[in-house]
Amino acid sequence: MKSKFQADKNGYYGQFGGAFIPELLYSNVKELEDNYLKIIESEAFQKEYKYLLKDYVGRPTPLYLAPRLSEKYGGHIYLKREDLNHTGAHKVNNTIGQILIAKQLGKKRIIAETGAGQHGVATATVCALMDLECIIFMGEVDIKRQAPNVARMKMLGAKVVPAKSGSKTLKDATNEAMRNWIGNPKDTYYLIGSVVGPHPYPDMVARLQAIISEEIKWQLKEHTGKENPDTVIACVGGGSNAAGAFYHYLDEENVELIAVEAAGLGVDSGESAATSRLGEVGVLHGSKTILMQDEYGQVIEPYSISAGLDYPGIGPLHAFLNESDRAIFMNATDQEALDAAFELTRLEGIIPALETAHALAVLGKMKISKDQVIVVNLSGRGDKDLEIYIKNLKE
Ligand SMILES: *Cc1c(COP(=O)(O)O)cnc(C)c1O
Repeated sequence: MKSKFQADKNGYYGQFGGAFIPELLYSNVKELEDNYLKIIESEAFQKEYKYLLKDYVGRPTPLYLAPRLSEKYGGHIYLKREDLNHTGAHKVNNTIGQILIAKQLGKKRIIAETGAGQHGVATATVCALMDLECIIFMGEVDIKRQAPNVARMKMLGAKVVPAKSGSKTLKDATNEAMRNWIGNPKDTYYLIGSVVGPHPYPDMVARLQAIISEEIKWQLKEHTGKENPDTVIACVGGGSNAAGAFYHYLDEENVELIAVEAAGLGVDSGESAATSRLGEVGVLHGSKTILMQDEYGQVIEPYSISAGLDYPGIGPLHAFLNESDRAIFMNATDQEALDAAFELTRLEGIIPALETAHALAVLGKMKISKDQVIVVNLSGRGDKDLEIYIKNLKE
């Protein structure tokens, strides 16, 4: 039986998804659509993907019962330690998978766009590993704001191309990447970093991140005797770490799924990225989803203290999880995320990424029962956010 939370053959989750692309991209997207499942399900792919996840990325990542956090909020709170992956977050699960798919398709040139630079670094990393040409499009403003990640990408051998149009940020970089792909339909692979973009990307990226909940299941069974927690919590930018943490629980209706968006300075402040609360149906990045837009359908620039959640939409799976009430959408402000990051650091000795801190911040807003088993997906580590943490450090 096919789950309603799996993309249908045209890439739809309910009314969301599909492939809204210019005619000139059709052949590129079709080639991927025709081949991605065959490749992912092949024995050769699975063997190499699992091998690299183990020996290169460092999987399985631990599932850690956080004793002092549990004591503070109640229940049994487990942390899925994606922060311990090579390159410091969950993003590499996806880039490893897609680089193997690109190789299988015979592609020689990898392009990607990046906002904060985290996906750019994860892409440049696997291109170095596979000795493939790597071109990263990045808004000119973001290049200035994210100098350390730009340096990492260059050190890894990638070419970083500034996007100079519009607001010179992520959406402009996306436009540049699409344009470049149109111009190079044969040898180029477009490596998208979250469960966004035209079909088949959302489904493909969800499958590559599903390793997270695959591991949670057996790890939780070792800890508690049961595969299913009561609740899974994850932050949502585009939605890939949440998709991975939810994936194997989507049809288990008794597992509560909580997706946490960035509320920036407050949901109604005009400086936010809480798409599920503020967004309306539209087309973004080649798929039908919900996005923050003005009355003319122009994308509203999102805001969050965390660069990884600073995205004006959510992927189509999440738009459907929200609309169907399968997942509960919550949000946390900049300040709540900062407080949660400092708290986890002091309670457990783990410095989380600012994105991840949003997921942790909702623990204090929930009613948690004594026996409740909760898994928080710790999507990344906080090293990249140190500058912001230092500014907010109280003695
Ligand atoms: C990029 C990033 C996110 C947001 O992306 P998703 O696709 O929503 O997972 C969350 N956490 C970390 C650490 C990130 O680097």
